[in-house]
Amino acid sequence: MFGLSKRVQNRIPQAVLDVCHTLRDKGYQAYVVGGAIRDSLLGDVPGDWDVATDAQPGEVMSLFSKTIPTGIKYGTVTVVKDISVEVTTFRSDGIYRDARRPEDVTFSTSIVEDLQRRDFTVNAIAYDPIARKFVDPFGGIRDLRRRTLKAVGDPEERFAEDALRMLRFFRFLATLEFRPCQKTLAAVKPKLIRRISAERIRDEMSKLLLAKAPGSTLLLMHRAGLLQEILPEVAEGDGVIQGSFHRFDVLRHSLEAVDNSLPRLELRWAALLHDVAKPKLRTEDEHGIHFYRHDVEGEQIARDILTRLRYAKRFVEKVALLVRWHMFSVHAASTDKALRRFIRRVGKENVMDLLELRRADILALGRQTTCNAWQNWRTLRDRLQEILEGDTILTVNDLAIGGRDVMAALQIKPGPAVGAALEWLLEKVLDDPSLNEREILLSLLQSYENPPLLHNQQENTPLQRKH
Ligand code: ATP
Ligand code: MG
Repeated sequence: MFGLSKRVQNRIPQAVLDVCHTLRDKGYQAYVVGGAIRDSLLGDVPGDWDVATDAQPGEVMSLFSKTIPTGIKYGTVTVVKDISVEVTTFRSDGIYRDARRPEDVTFSTSIVEDLQRRDFTVNAIAYDPIARKFVDPFGGIRDLRRRTLKAVGDPEERFAEDALRMLRFFRFLATLEFRPCQKTLAAVKPKLIRRISAERIRDEMSKLLLAKAPGSTLLLMHRAGLLQEILPEVAEGDGVIQGSFHRFDVLRHSLEAVDNSLPRLELRWAALLHDVAKPKLRTEDEHGIHFYRHDVEGEQIARDILTRLRYAKRFVEKVALLVRWHMFSVHAASTDKALRRFIRRVGKENVMDLLELRRADILALGRQTTCNAWQNWRTLRDRLQEILEGDTILTVNDLAIGGRDVMAALQIKPGPAVGAALEWLLEKVLDDPSLNEREILLSLLQSYENPPLLHNQQENTPLQRKH
C-alpha cells in the first residue's frame, strides 16, 4: 500500500494539495477521487483533478478566493488556482426516474456513500493526500491490478439508473484496455441508451474512438447489441462479405481501418464510416461482388450519422469529404496534371488526410500487402507533398488575375459569373501552368464564351460581349 500511495502522492499538483489542506484546516474531509486516482495508479497522467469533501458548496465558495459554481445543483464548485480543481460535496444520488439523471441529490458526510454512487470500482477509489491513505470499499485497486472493469454494486440497477454508464463501460474498456467483468457486460440493455441525449453519446463515442485500438471494443459493443442502437448503419456491415481482396466483412474491415488510422477524431470517424454505404449497395454478378457508388452514397450517410450525433457542422463536412473521396484513383504513375486536378478537387487541406485514410484502408484488407503497393503509396505521397509545397497553381486565388480583372474584361457585375470565369481559367492553367500570366489570361478571356446562364442572375451575365 505504501508503494501505491507514493505513486499517487507524487503526482498530485500543488494546487490540489492546497485545496485539500485548506479544507482540512477548517475541519472538513478532503479526498482526491475519480479518474485522477485511477490514472495515477495506472502510471498515466491524469487529465483533470477532482476533490470530494463534506463541506457544502456554499462553504467551499467562501473558503477560496476564486471559484466558479460550475454544477452547483450537483454540489460542484470549481476552485481556480494555477489549474482548476473541481470540488464536489459528498452526495448520494436520489431516484433516477428516466435512466438519465438523478431527480435530486442529497449531500452526505460519508465518503463511502459518495463512492457508492460512482460507476465503476476503478473510478470509486478515494485518496486522502494528508493522511496518505486510500478509501477503496469496492475493490477498485484489486480490479486495477486485474485490469478488469466492473460496476459498483448491482450492474443492472446501475445501468437502469443511468444508461450512459453502458457506453462509459465500453469507453473505459477501450481507453484503459481492460477486460470486462462478465456480469457487468451481461447487464447491458441496449434499448435503454435511447433515453440518453445525442450530445452525451457523442462525447463518449469521441473518447472511445480515440483509444489506441478501439476496434475490439466496438465489436464487443456490437455483440452486446449497443452498436446497433447508436450506429445501426455501421452494424449493418456485419456478415457483408466482400471480394477476394478482402479478408474481412464490411464491419470488421471498418474496425480494422479504425485501429490502423492515426488517433485523430476525423480520421477515426472517416475510417469507421468510409464503407458505410456498402451493405445497402452490394451487388453480385459473373464478374464478382460490387459496391458501385458507395463513396457517393457513403458521404451522405456519414453526414446524417454525425449530424444526428450533433457534431459541429465543420467536423461533419470534413468527415463526409474524406468518405466521399476515399476511393480516389490517382496513383504513383499519374501525370502531374492529374495530381493537380485531384488536389484541386479535394482541397489542399484534405490531401494528406486522404492518403492516411488510404493507408488504413489498405492495412485493413487483412492481406499481405506487397512491398510494391507501399512503395507506390509512398511515391504518391511524396509527389503530392512536393506539389503542395511548391508554388503550383491550385486554386483561383493563385491565378495571375483576379475577379476585378474578369469583371473589367467581360464587362460584368459582381456575382457567380465572375467565379465561373475564374474557374474556367483555372482549368486551363491546371492543364498548362505556363499560362498563368496576366496578359495570357486576359487574352484567354477574349475567347470565353457563353458562361452558363444561371436562373435569376441575368444581371451577372455579360452585358456586352467584346466580340
Ligand atoms: P476522464 O476524465 O478521463 O474521462 P473520469 O473517470 O475522470 O475519466 P469523468 O467523466 O470526469 O470521468 O467523471 C469523474 C468521476 O465521476 C468518475 O471517475 C466517476 O467516479 C464519476 N462518474 C462520472 N460519470 C458518472 C456516471 N454517469 N455515473 C456514475 N459515476 C460517474
Ligand atoms: Mg475526469
